[in-house]
Amino acid sequence: MAKVLCVLYPDPVTGYPPRYVRDDIPVITQYPNGQTVPSPQGPLGFKPGELVGCVSGELGLRSYLEAHGHQLVVTSDKDGADSTFDKHLVDADVVISQPFWPAYLTAERIAKAKKLKLALTAGIGSDHVDLKAAAAHGVTVAEETFSNSISVAEHVVMMVLSLVRNYLPAHQYAVNGGWNIADCVSRSYDLEGMHFGTLGAGRIGLAVLRRLKPFDVKLHYYQRHRLAPEVEAELGLIHHETPEDLVKVCDIINLQMPLYPSTEGFFNERMLSLVKRGAYLINTARGALCDRDAIVKALESGQLAGYAGDVWFPQPAPVDHPWRTMPYNGMTPHISGSSLSGQARYAAGTLEILQCFFEGKPIRPEYLIVDGGNLAGTGASSYKLS
Ligand code: NDP
Repeated sequence: MAKVLCVLYPDPVTGYPPRYVRDDIPVITQYPNGQTVPSPQGPLGFKPGELVGCVSGELGLRSYLEAHGHQLVVTSDKDGADSTFDKHLVDADVVISQPFWPAYLTAERIAKAKKLKLALTAGIGSDHVDLKAAAAHGVTVAEETFSNSISVAEHVVMMVLSLVRNYLPAHQYAVNGGWNIADCVSRSYDLEGMHFGTLGAGRIGLAVLRRLKPFDVKLHYYQRHRLAPEVEAELGLIHHETPEDLVKVCDIINLQMPLYPSTEGFFNERMLSLVKRGAYLINTARGALCDRDAIVKALESGQLAGYAGDVWFPQPAPVDHPWRTMPYNGMTPHISGSSLSGQARYAAGTLEILQCFFEGKPIRPEYLIVDGGNLAGTGASSYKLS
């Protein structure tokens, strides 16, 4: 019998289950690169479209795990040495955590977790796990690659339009009973003709570029490996040799690269000094890619015209985190990858990985981040250990 310790975000304050506003979600069978969606054996423990990402939703895993004699512990209490997470970690075989409400699996915690064999991210982005320590302790790390990439790409497009069109302040005028058109439009522009650049054009970054193409914007990207020439030609992409070259010419900059030790604090005062005055910055990748206080200063000085994102450090962000109240922000809590549609896919992917793990079958390489003491599968191309 294995002990599976699962950390999920708390239930809705109005209770669980919520009253669903729609009866179904579209059926998606494959991702844009041809990869198939998760295919666990047997019944799912939930109906796609249900809220399974919170504690009472349990990712729909209980029926499968208990039918196979395993123990499932689900909690949202994840921080501090007295947390429920720390208490159960010492004899857990599997930990499931998620970027939205990350149980930070630090080197110290991994050292305490003597029985831990699998650290599973329900979603994408395993930077809350110390990958070096996981590799050293022989812990396999896996995530459900592609499960919520399109969910995030759609969120980015929404944030681009919201910032450029000044949607959020204008909406607030309407809510507050006002009608001052001049105040609303004095920061409102058309997206058409602007230069949009993404730092990182992987699964999400490329999906964003594809979605913005019909807006007649000029599309730029930077990453170390160039996209295929036919993709560059199809989208009319301008590739830059360095991130600095890109940020100097773009009106809107999107961060879509992973967080690993050498990208921490990447968008700092120096990078901000290079952007065009009045640029917009979007970040749905990871909060720690940016220098927190430098972003606030750039918004206050007008160097940035807006900043929107859903990722913070740490998470949940403290109530006095300056990004909650800085001017011209379009921040949300970390929600972009946890739409009900995205949840259905990452919950099914979690079940698929658990079934492989318990039945001794190989986990799909696209789901692997660390395996056999080193980066593996997707991890080998997306992450670095230093
Ligand atoms: P991918 O691995 O598909 O793409 C990341 C891209 O970043 C790669 O193409 C890589 O190309 C590029 N890259 C790596 N290092 C750098 C660098 N230093 N500078 C510029 N580009 C770089 O990842 P995804 O698109 O699936 O996801 C990207 C990130 O988004 C995730 O790591 C995660 O942090 C975040 N995410 C957020 C979610 C949310 O809910 N907000 C949900 C899912 C993911 P190359 O190696 O050629 O440089």
